[in-house]
Amino acid sequence: MCHHYLTELFAPMKLKILQVGNPVLREAAKELSPDEIHTLPVQQLIAYMTETLRDAPGVGLAAPQVGESLQIAVVEDRAEYLQHWRDDELKARERRPVPLQVLINPKITAASSECIGFHEGCLSMAGFMGVVPRSVNVTVSCLDATGQPKVIEASGWFARILQHEIDHLQGTLCIDKMQLPTLATVENFQRYGRRGH
Ligand code: ZN
Repeated sequence: MCHHYLTELFAPMKLKILQVGNPVLREAAKELSPDEIHTLPVQQLIAYMTETLRDAPGVGLAAPQVGESLQIAVVEDRAEYLQHWRDDELKARERRPVPLQVLINPKITAASSECIGFHEGCLSMAGFMGVVPRSVNVTVSCLDATGQPKVIEASGWFARILQHEIDHLQGTLCIDKMQLPTLATVENFQRYGRRGH
């Protein structure tokens, strides 16, 4: 009985990813208490968000993107995603694999004044990319999926992903910080944009 219940609870389920223009994406998301983190609906949401992120596929997903105005984000940059990039592109972006991270109530406690711009996309702005300047290094304080505090020191692409996801939890989208003349379809980014940055 119990077994059956858990199997159903965490059976893979993909959630619908909301697109830009949906007002939920513009709300400041609600913080969670450790007690709330331990509830089944929140644990279920984290499992479903992870499944949705991997299915997309993407490197980060925030709860407002699936219609839940809660301060939860999942981040993962898998080695297989890096195969689409040349070594010099990976080096310039300081992009390395990042194991799955669950961030709850994340806050940027330090950010380098040194910024760098690269094209980035968003699962809620499907089909488009543009250059967004981001701090090269950030320190993030948050709770993990068990409610334990953790501190993340991130640099390069990981730091960029964290800044993007934490923005989502405040109702900020990458287009708000984008250098709009660099906006491109993904197809045109592949054709022209990768050279520029
Ligand atoms: Zn996004």
